[in-house]
Amino acid sequence: MNVEQNKKTVFSEVANACQMAGRPERAVDIIAVTKYVDSSIASQLIEAGVTHIGENRVDKFLDKYKALHNHPVTWHLIGSLQRRKVKDIIPYVDYFHALDSVKLAVEIDKRANRVIKCFLQVNISREESKHGFKVEDLAEVLPKLAELTHVEIIGLMTMAPLNAPRERILAIFQETENLRQNIQEQAWKNMPMTELSMGMSQDYDLAIQAGTSFVRIGSAFFK
Ligand SMILES: *Cc1c(COP(=O)(O)O)cnc(C)c1O
Repeated sequence: MNVEQNKKTVFSEVANACQMAGRPERAVDIIAVTKYVDSSIASQLIEAGVTHIGENRVDKFLDKYKALHNHPVTWHLIGSLQRRKVKDIIPYVDYFHALDSVKLAVEIDKRANRVIKCFLQVNISREESKHGFKVEDLAEVLPKLAELTHVEIIGLMTMAPLNAPRERILAIFQETENLRQNIQEQAWKNMPMTELSMGMSQDYDLAIQAGTSFVRIGSAFFK
């Protein structure tokens, strides 16, 4: 495994995807998802120029944070969060990508001592196994989230189904972008809704085509 070489390859492929989509390279931030490796390998990625680190589990996030927080890194919690763990982790999170219930948002609001940038996770693919709000529930959810003062909804996060045809994945990403625009037009005061978090190792080119601003890439860095 040559992490430095993989980093170069991923970054240049993301740049290519931006060019193909007619978008500037700086429009897309690459989050390296380090859940497969330990802190020493993650630190090699940082040495190679990665500035966004993502973890999907609280314990692994805290391990990496402890080992690497002196590096100039932005910290992303990308996986689901149990309410009882909010207080342990929220001080260290720069971006939370998996806000999927009002109760969780209320807990974050209560425990945070600053504004936390959050993505609403939406279940566009409608798979039972996926976390996230259903689109039809948002009309009821958004007014409740709008009452919170420490939760800023900066955009939407979604996951494409595994093994779906690429056209279907692209359609899901485009639907997410349409929903983002729709919510942005509603102009809730704590919901700038300017961002999207979608695309992983297998499908980030499609997410970039659909307009994403963050991609969450794991395995492509560690093969
Ligand atoms: C693991 C993970 C990723 C990265 O997936 P890869 O296929 O390894 O690139 C992205 N997002 C979430 C929420 C993850 O858990």
